Amino acid sequence: MKEQQTVLTELKALLGDNVLTDEAILREHSSDWIGHRRWEKYNGCYLAQIPLCVIKAQNTADVVKALQYCNHNRVTVIPQCGRSGVCAGSETVNGAVALDGSAMNRIIKLDEENQLLTALCGTPLQYIEKYCQERGFTTGHFPQSLPLAQIGGLVSTRSIGQLSTLYGGIEEMLVGLEAVLADGTVIRTKNVPRRAAGPEPRDLFIGSEGNFAFITEVTVKIFRNHQKLWKRAYAMDKFKTGLEAIKEIMQEGWKPAVVRLHDAVEAGLTYSGFINDGENIMLFAADGPEGLTKATGQAVDRLVKKYGARDLGEKPVDLWYKVRNNTCDDPFHAAKTGLVRDTCEVSAKWTDIYRIYENVIHRFPREVENVTQISAHSSHSYTTGTNLYFVFSFSGDTDMVRARAQFDQAWNIIMEETLRFNGSICHHHGVGKYRAHLIPKEHGSAYRILEILKDGFDPNRIMNTGTFMPRP
Ligand SMILES: Cc1cc2nc3c(=O)[nH]c(=O)nc-3n(C[C@H](O)[C@H](O)[C@H](O)COP(=O)(O)OP(=O)(O)OC[C@H]3O[C@@H](n4cnc5c(N)ncnc54)[C@H](O)[C@@H]3O)c2cc1C
Repeated sequence: MKEQQTVLTELKALLGDNVLTDEAILREHSSDWIGHRRWEKYNGCYLAQIPLCVIKAQNTADVVKALQYCNHNRVTVIPQCGRSGVCAGSETVNGAVALDGSAMNRIIKLDEENQLLTALCGTPLQYIEKYCQERGFTTGHFPQSLPLAQIGGLVSTRSIGQLSTLYGGIEEMLVGLEAVLADGTVIRTKNVPRRAAGPEPRDLFIGSEGNFAFITEVTVKIFRNHQKLWKRAYAMDKFKTGLEAIKEIMQEGWKPAVVRLHDAVEAGLTYSGFINDGENIMLFAADGPEGLTKATGQAVDRLVKKYGARDLGEKPVDLWYKVRNNTCDDPFHAAKTGLVRDTCEVSAKWTDIYRIYENVIHRFPREVENVTQISAHSSHSYTTGTNLYFVFSFSGDTDMVRARAQFDQAWNIIMEETLRFNGSICHHHGVGKYRAHLIPKEHGSAYRILEILKDGFDPNRIMNTGTFMPRP
């Protein structure tokens, strides 16, 4: 193993001013938005490990040089783009190189005829969406982190947006990509609508969280931006009944773009002006050609009323559209009021989802000290089941070891109850380093496939090892 100073000198000789070593930059690049690190940062007691340097790649050639060097010299590489991940995927380890794609920030082509858009990995999603909308299109991809995330990171984490019931997750949008493998080999996949030419190489990179390769360029589908929106909110007595209504909407074959059910706690926090105490709230929007949105709206209205929903009109949905990305404004919003706040998203079949909800809500106040909120909503639904997005907060301890123990206990409850009912512990935030220890359990016998892929892609274990799979 080379001395760290030698590694730095040699990287600087290869990549010049794109190798950054300023202390403030290294700290900034050492973690993402995961709740316990935000708490540590706010309290001036930051425990994340700091990288040796940050390499700001300007193009694919820089990525090739960096990976070839690191692979040859067994230096750990942590790929990064927007660093808006929430599971410590882009968190660094001592001595690692943070390979940052955010300067690779350009739309290469918008192909109107085939409805395709190609962009470099560091292009912000918000910029891509604006660019599309100015030309009558939309990406259809609206994660809450729209103002923060970049296209390479979105593919790497298998992200999903708020209009997913209509447009799907990023896996349904990705058409092709360019990536650099650990040894510096550049690969490109073919942009075709569909093919049956063996397993699709493109798909191996979706959700790979920087473990297999560095994604440099992405081609996604784009959609006509109809803006023929139908929207409606409803109050619902019981969370369980709301889930049943969504199940019927999905299984009858409707695809409203927005399908959300917030439990009474969340409904009370944001929509108290519209509902009675203890009621849950459902928010819907349909998008697409006019006839389709109208028919979808009528079907949703008919089905939720069958389950006893009370019509609240459009205003709560307008409010949701207005505030839906506000969390991105300030990472320390909760910490400023003395709270550690985080979110955790899981999924399960219709048979099991309510039992997970019930058990988590029951256990939290009994097992997590000083809880101030535990709530959930369902925001991504399928014919087979749905997700639950838990939001929790507790008064944070200023002793960081104790605060971390509280944080872990909160997460553990959600993970345990989800695994108990055969759900998935990661619906869309990815695994990161935080949940990696649970992934053998998540996959069971199929975990072997991930080990084989890791061995093949990255035999020297330089690529973000310890992320999405535990260190061997
Ligand atoms: C307020 C907030 C709201 C959020 N809402 C949503 C949501 O609605 N839906 C959702 O899906 N997610 C959401 N997220 C999570 C996060 O925004 C997504 O995971 C996003 O996809 C991360 O993109 P990024 O560019 O910030 O990636 P980063 O955080 O930089 O990286 C994420 C992972 O991908 C790897 N990686 C990054 N770039 C590359 C690359 N070029 N090649 C290979 N690997 C790479 C990293 O090593 C890391 O493991 C939210 C986060 C926040 C803070």
